[in-house]
Amino acid sequence: MNTAYIALGANLGDPVATVLAAFGALANLNESRVIHTSSLYRTAPVGNTAQPEFINAVAALETTLAPEALLDALLEVEQRFGRIRAEKNGPRTLDLDLLLYNDLELDLPRLTLPHPRLHLRAFVLLPLAEISPSLPLPKRGTVAAWLPAVANQGISRL
Ligand code: ADP
Ligand code: MG
Repeated sequence: MNTAYIALGANLGDPVATVLAAFGALANLNESRVIHTSSLYRTAPVGNTAQPEFINAVAALETTLAPEALLDALLEVEQRFGRIRAEKNGPRTLDLDLLLYNDLELDLPRLTLPHPRLHLRAFVLLPLAEISPSLPLPKRGTVAAWLPAVANQGISRL
């Protein structure tokens, strides 16, 4: 059995309803079980700031899907929620990122693990710290140890 952490983000339509429904979609993935879900967080958009604010959350899964099969399953859920990839860092109905898969380090064309920006983003670290503060990030110490680095980023728990 493997442990994977998924970041959820939404900023179009009704993003709170989307993230809650996405927790349900994760619970229905093959060979997988949701073991923790974080609170929902509200964050200002990064990069392209002329777009609605985001709702973000993190879920922990136990899974027997291999990493790339899990990524495919996540992209399929995004599609089902009507995700359109128009512009980089642009608005999206639902974004699902694979943050961590055990302590695996991978650098494939379509899958980098851990997610390369996870330790720099309050909207990932705060929900992750809520469910697994002492989780070690490969080569980077614990999740909790990175919180001060993102303390200046605007985020609030719903
Ligand atoms: P972002 O999440 O950075 O805003 P996208 O969701 O559009 O961007 O992702 C673009 C591509 O990133 C995906 O098609 C996927 O193949 C690739 N990718 C690489 N590593 C990961 C990861 N850890 N989790 C999710 N997608 C990843
Ligand atoms: Mg993504």
